[in-house]
Amino acid sequence: MKEFISVVEARSIILGQMTPMPAERVAWADAVGRTLAEAIRSRDDIPPFDNSAMDGYAVRSADLQSLPVSLPIIEDIPAGTFPQKTVEPGACSRIMTGAPFPEGADAVVPVEWTEAGEAGRVQFNRAPEPGEHVRAAGQDVRNGERVFEPGQVITPPMVGMLTTLGYPTVEVAQRPRVAVISTGDELVDPSEALGPGKIRDSNGPALAAQVVSAGGEALPPIRASDTPESIRAIVEAALDADVLLFSGGVSVGSYDFVKQVLDEMGMELLFWKVRQRPGKPLAFGLLQGRRVFGLPGNPVSSAICFEQYVRPALAKMLGRRALLRPRYNARLDAPTPKKAGLHYFARGRASFDEAGCLRVRDTGPQASNLYSSMVKANCLFHLPEALEDPPAGTVVQVEWLEW
Ligand code: AMP
Ligand code: MG
Repeated sequence: MKEFISVVEARSIILGQMTPMPAERVAWADAVGRTLAEAIRSRDDIPPFDNSAMDGYAVRSADLQSLPVSLPIIEDIPAGTFPQKTVEPGACSRIMTGAPFPEGADAVVPVEWTEAGEAGRVQFNRAPEPGEHVRAAGQDVRNGERVFEPGQVITPPMVGMLTTLGYPTVEVAQRPRVAVISTGDELVDPSEALGPGKIRDSNGPALAAQVVSAGGEALPPIRASDTPESIRAIVEAALDADVLLFSGGVSVGSYDFVKQVLDEMGMELLFWKVRQRPGKPLAFGLLQGRRVFGLPGNPVSSAICFEQYVRPALAKMLGRRALLRPRYNARLDAPTPKKAGLHYFARGRASFDEAGCLRVRDTGPQASNLYSSMVKANCLFHLPEALEDPPAGTVVQVEWLEW
């Protein structure tokens, strides 16, 4: 077991223990936000056939050299039908947007460039270039092209592309099942009245929400009281999850039994305590094939430890390509108090100044029980271990908190 390790080492130990979830097949309606578990290749040209980009007339452009000219309409081609006739010299077909382009023609004249002629004819007032307003088969995607890779998170436009390509169902990674366990005799359900000395359990609901936003499945949050028996019973009930998230009870207080109970149950503790603020008492281990996180109880610590460690862990289980949020350089707007020796995750608000430079400042007092500075934050910024009391203007790394 390692103790008091760096942020980077803690993350690498955790990620080293995460293996990909099996795949399952879902319908397009359930696919958004899921992670692709297969490569997607096109099995058709898209569009599948040459077609018209406009409502108008399919013509041979050479027929429109002297204007105006009136031509007979030999056929009507609405979308969803297929042309039966070749456009011979001196003729045209009426065609709608998206309808297959007929043989013989080489351009479409939009209806706006024409006037109604005598019965069965149309008068052209303007000529198209050869090929104008015709959309070629395969212009968007070629048959056989590799369009998506495993590990991509399915976005709404991807749902459009998958269904265009004829994938009404796709293979995605199963969501890791995450048991969220709050510990503490002071906790009551958010629906209950506050008795003396009690507070509402907010970590359970907040962590469950974070699990969902990270692509996992949150089992209904459970509360354990601060006794070894209660914690043991709840762990046993939670063992059908892939990941166990404890909040509270991992510090050094007299009632912090989580580590002790897990140890008695045979957990292999891989580390305890990280050189970070907030979240120093973070613990991580393996219990009967489950990954177990002991998150500190202070609400900001548990939220930030989730973002820094559990979110990337779930991303790895999902087979995602990007495990960490991208980071951007920003300048501190104000001097920021900091001790050397711990990596700080500060709650911040970042914005671009008139020159387009990213600036960041903290959202106020940073104690780990102060949740209001968490909900005001649009980013976390990193103050590395060695840094001490950075002055205004110091360049730091920012990650946007997009949920
Ligand atoms: P602990 O890590 O158990 O010592 O808890 C540290 C602080 O976090 C204490 O003030 C707890 O009351 C608070 N806390 C622990 N669990 C929760 C929770 N689920 N919801 C809100 N606050 C909590
Ligand atoms: Mg506690």
